[in-house]
Amino acid sequence: MKIQAYNPIPNTFGLKVTAASYVEYDTPAELETLLADGIVTTPYLHVGSGSNLLFSGDYPGVILHSCIKGIEVLHEDASHVKVRVGAGVVWDDFVAHCVAHGWHGAENLSLIPGEVGAAAVQNIGAYGVEIKDIIAQVETVSLHGDNQTYSTEQCAYAYRDSLFKKRKDLFVTRVTFVLSKLPLFSLGYASVRNEADLLATVDLPAVRAIIIRIREAKLPDPARWGNAGSFFKNPVVERSQFDALHIRYPDMPFYEQSDGSVKIPAGWLIEQCGWKGKSLGRAAVYDKQALVLINCGGATGQDIIALSDAVRRSVREHFEIDITPEVNVV
Ligand SMILES: Cc1cc2nc3c(=O)[nH]c(=O)nc-3n(C[C@H](O)[C@H](O)[C@H](O)COP(=O)(O)OP(=O)(O)OC[C@H]3O[C@@H](n4cnc5c(N)ncnc54)[C@H](O)[C@@H]3O)c2cc1C
Repeated sequence: MKIQAYNPIPNTFGLKVTAASYVEYDTPAELETLLADGIVTTPYLHVGSGSNLLFSGDYPGVILHSCIKGIEVLHEDASHVKVRVGAGVVWDDFVAHCVAHGWHGAENLSLIPGEVGAAAVQNIGAYGVEIKDIIAQVETVSLHGDNQTYSTEQCAYAYRDSLFKKRKDLFVTRVTFVLSKLPLFSLGYASVRNEADLLATVDLPAVRAIIIRIREAKLPDPARWGNAGSFFKNPVVERSQFDALHIRYPDMPFYEQSDGSVKIPAGWLIEQCGWKGKSLGRAAVYDKQALVLINCGGATGQDIIALSDAVRRSVREHFEIDITPEVNVV
């Protein structure tokens, strides 16, 4: 356990921000003790590795961080394995572990930054897979100190959304996954499919390598250019609005949703507004992927927010669509 005043808060935007109090714990029992001892006062925020957070300034309250580790096999048969993983395990270390053990289901989510607890909060997704597809249950400790386990249905998963994004009084301690031991791959995404078609044999290490290669070519490394991945969610519009837009922009990419609405890539909208590669102060829209905002060096949270506001305004004026941040602005 660690409790420190004015500790820097880790974040992949590379912002220099501190927390009035920074608290780390190693077990759910330690978290319960911290809560019972009144260490967690308002305001508080539970963080992972800060890869989806944008701090507008120093945090005036308590920042909590889980260091709960461990990957424990609960059950295994010929076709499936059930594993319970600590919230503080680095997500990509877990994916690498699955690939090394021949467990299928997490490989398309290779190289997504962050920790297991946050991944379950965010419902991370990439290349046609969402983490909810492999989650069996999520264990939490509440602000009041009680333990509760949520089934996948109770987690109310949706696109980059879950119960835990609303219930800030619930702290994820462990996540249980069910993975397949049979060779099931999700290769529907065109860029993944194209590379997989070139392989003599499709296996887990090869799929993980493809995903890593695609991601490294497209996304900025936070160690070089501070960023939080996709800054905006892809907007979903009503059919009537889509039809009107499609007449004006026949080349506009889109994805039909099961309820009749249509999802439009926010990156395309931003690019059409001329923002790709453009900077505003010390923040910029990444030149290889317009959905990503980067810290060009020395930016503050306010610089990134100013750029985000300007981009949103342009998209609203051009398309009458409000794009909302996927990144959690604090
Ligand atoms: C280069 C890059 C690429 C990315 N690519 C993707 C991608 O392909 N797909 C994708 O979905 N995301 C992507 N992301 C976003 C990010 O990696 C994920 O959202 C990730 O799950 C965040 O993990 P974290 O540990 O950094 O959480 P943080 O950013 O620290 O926190 C995220 C949220 O979870 C909450 N939280 C954290 N831990 C807990 C806990 N134990 N209990 C309760 N609440 C908690 C926080 O309060 C916050 O609301 C990318 C980010 C970067 C920088």
